[in-house]
Amino acid sequence: MRSIRFYKEVREARLLDPLSGFLLEAQPIEVRLDPLTGSPSRINVRRAERLRKASPAYDARFREAIEDSKKNCYFCPDSLERLTPMFPKDFVPEGRMRLGSARLFPNLYPFAEHHAVAIFTEVPHFLEPRDLTPSLLQDCFALALDYLRLVASKENPRPMYGSINWNYGPPAGASILHPHLQILADGTPTKQVALLIKESEEYWKRDGSSYWEDLIEVEKKLGERFIAERKGIVWLASYAPQGNGEIMAILREMSSLTEMDEGCLKALCEGLYAILKFYQARGVKSFNMASFSGRALEGSRSFSLIFKILSRPEPRPFYVSDAGFMERFHGEAVVDTKPEDLAKELKAFFR
Ligand SMILES: [Zn+2]
Repeated sequence: MRSIRFYKEVREARLLDPLSGFLLEAQPIEVRLDPLTGSPSRINVRRAERLRKASPAYDARFREAIEDSKKNCYFCPDSLERLTPMFPKDFVPEGRMRLGSARLFPNLYPFAEHHAVAIFTEVPHFLEPRDLTPSLLQDCFALALDYLRLVASKENPRPMYGSINWNYGPPAGASILHPHLQILADGTPTKQVALLIKESEEYWKRDGSSYWEDLIEVEKKLGERFIAERKGIVWLASYAPQGNGEIMAILREMSSLTEMDEGCLKALCEGLYAILKFYQARGVKSFNMASFSGRALEGSRSFSLIFKILSRPEPRPFYVSDAGFMERFHGEAVVDTKPEDLAKELKAFFR
């Protein structure tokens, strides 16, 4: 707790607003830095008012696109066996993995040494966020964990860094609407995971305690961004979010995905489902999720396993993206909701 600092600076932008008869207006812009990594986030709550009347209902054009995409979906039962890749026999003798309603197979165009796709269920082809029930989530996430454990055991003693990721909806980068996870494992961590591990280790050396445990303690005390704690998983609105509606889950007392047991997975899926229901109520139809995991099969005291989820814009015929030059080139996120307001709203969904 000693070194946790919630840095914030409020800047003001002045303009004559055409919507109020060109009266002088000063809009506050909060520039926040992530307490661990220093990653910046710019919050202007007025941006939420822009053309942002998202409705919880799916509009007719998007419904049409869903129907259309069903005709040549690789993940639907007619195509899955014929058109999705299989693992080599020495890796998975049956070619593809299955658990309950979930299926897992290699990504056809991988960008990691081990890169699999897991679909939540073969039918129906499309599920709205609120339809992704805890039991569907649990099958798919458990299968993803089985795959990561298999990779870790096959590669052992080589270090392996795995992640479970989700692009849901076209604005989140999903090329296929049929809901699916992407599971990656490589011999080296991603840039962000490497940074989190390094900063956590430095904090540990400097302060003699875990940054993540200290963060939980201070966030609980402040109460502004703390949402809930269930079975060792703490749910928080990120202080300096990298996107709108960003929530993080800190899994206490574990640092790697391979350490997750059934009870922990169940609690994770229930928490994710609460967020998905909240997203649906807010009109969110697209989101990204990722895990940040330490080295497989090896515990760390300085680092904790983390999941993050954030919302993306509403799918529209002329594809809307909220990642512009600030996010893609300058490495600064522009956000329209205060994390404290987000946490306040979300608490009801965890009750
Ligand atoms: Zn499908």
